[in-house]
Amino acid sequence: MAIHTICITGEPVLHRPSAPVTLIDDDIRTLVADMFETMEAAPGVGLAAPQIGIDLAIFVWRWEDEDGILQEGVAINPRLLISPVSIDPVDEDEEAEGCLSVPGERFGLRRSDRAILTATNIDGDEFTIEAHGWLARIFQHEFDHLLGVLYVDRLSEPRLTQARRAIRKEGWGRPGNSWMPGEDFLEG
Ligand code: ZN
Repeated sequence: MAIHTICITGEPVLHRPSAPVTLIDDDIRTLVADMFETMEAAPGVGLAAPQIGIDLAIFVWRWEDEDGILQEGVAINPRLLISPVSIDPVDEDEEAEGCLSVPGERFGLRRSDRAILTATNIDGDEFTIEAHGWLARIFQHEFDHLLGVLYVDRLSEPRLTQARRAIRKEGWGRPGNSWMPGEDFLEG
């Protein structure tokens, strides 16, 4: 197993749809193990393959829910159904989202409260999970990565301008930026 460097916004692989997995072989199993290890080291609660430069439709998640129950898994070639998004104003504290590909930043984003994930697991079996609240948010965030969409792309004003400014200030938004979990200092 190995920890991988994480691509930062501007890297083309983050901004295009990823390719479906056609065969779950040893390479895929190793990749998934590496994704879990990289996510743990970051640390993060979700990680999509494009974030480590791999153009494949896979994401992993590991998150302890409000009841202390560990929610974790891998979604290969996922599909996602979501409930309509509320039009209430964004709660900046309760709905602050972050991304390992926009490290150190957090912005409030309204997401659907309910999401139904259908995907293939590492054994090649299809599964469905109905998620609410924060797990539904994780699924939406990671699924977006496989579409080539980052959460900052979905922000509304004034957060969109704030995020663009922060990205420009860091010199991101163009190819060639990455960071290594465990080596590069990252706040938050
Ligand atoms: Zn992300």
